[in-house]
Amino acid sequence: MSTTESVDTARIALLLNELRLPTIKAVWPRFAEQADKEGWPAARFLATIAEHEIAERGRRRIERHLADARLPPGKTLDSFDFDAVPMISKAQVMAIVAGDSWLSKGANLLLFGPPGGGKSHLAAAIGLALVENGWRVLFTRTTDLVQKLQVARRELALEAAINRLDRFDLLILDDLAYVSKDQAETSVLFELINARYERRSILITANQPFGEWGKVFPDPAMTLAAVDRLVHHATILEMNVESYRRRTALERKRGPGRPPSRATPKTAE
Ligand code: ADP
Ligand code: MG
Repeated sequence: MSTTESVDTARIALLLNELRLPTIKAVWPRFAEQADKEGWPAARFLATIAEHEIAERGRRRIERHLADARLPPGKTLDSFDFDAVPMISKAQVMAIVAGDSWLSKGANLLLFGPPGGGKSHLAAAIGLALVENGWRVLFTRTTDLVQKLQVARRELALEAAINRLDRFDLLILDDLAYVSKDQAETSVLFELINARYERRSILITANQPFGEWGKVFPDPAMTLAAVDRLVHHATILEMNVESYRRRTALERKRGPGRPPSRATPKTAE
C-alpha cells in the first residue's frame, strides 16, 4: 500500500498553489513514488523537490531576463569568429562575460572600430553570455534609447526613466556615433552616463574613438565630462578590422579550394 494513500493529495496541490511552488506541485508525485519504493529518508525527498523548485526558478528568471534584454537574435560568442579580430583574445572576452570584475563596480566597456567589424555582434554576444551568467542586460540602439529618454524628459519623468534602467547591470548602447547632434536630445545621454557613473555599467559601440564625440554631445565641456566618466573605469576594445561582410563576400567570390585568407583581401581583388 502506498504511503500517500492516507493523504488527501488533491489538497497538497492546493497548498502548493497557495505557497506558489509550481515545480514542487508538478514533480512531487513522481519523487514521492520513487522515495516510497526506494525507502528514501524524508529529508532526501524534501531536499530533492526543493532543489527542483530552485533550479526551475533560476531557469525562468534567466528566460525573463533574456526577454527583457532585447538582444538581436543569433549573435552569440559561438558564432563569433575570433580569428577575424586578432587584436581581441577569446580569453579576454570570456573573462568579461564572467562579469564580476567590472559589473559589480559599474565599470564600462567600449568597442571601437569601422562599420562591419563585428562591434554589434560582439556586444550582443557579450550581453547574451552575461544574461546566461545571471546578470541583467538591456541592448538598445543608442538613438532609440535617447528618443525614449527625450520623451520622458518632456513629461518631466527623465529621472524616473533613468532610475528604471538601474535594474540592468549593463546597458548596451549600440552605435553611439549616430546620435543626433540636436542639443536637447543629446544631453539626456549625458544625464544617463552621469547617473550610472561608478554604479552601473555601460557598453558603448562606436565607429570613432573619442575624436568625433564632439558631434555627439552639445558642447566641448560636456563631451569632455562624458568621455572622462566613461573611460575612468573602462576596458577599451579596438576592433580595427575590415568589414566582415565585405571580407566574407570576397572569400565567397574567390570560391572553394583556396585557403580562406584572413589577410588584406585588397591584394586578392
Ligand atoms: P559593426 O557593428 O561593427 O558595424 P556587425 O557586428 O553589425 O558590425 O557585423 C556585421 C555583420 O558581420 C553581422 O552580420 C555580424 O554578425 C557579422 N560579423 C562581423 N564580425 C564577425 C565575426 N568576427 N564573426 C562572425 N560574424 C561576424
Ligand atoms: Mg553595429
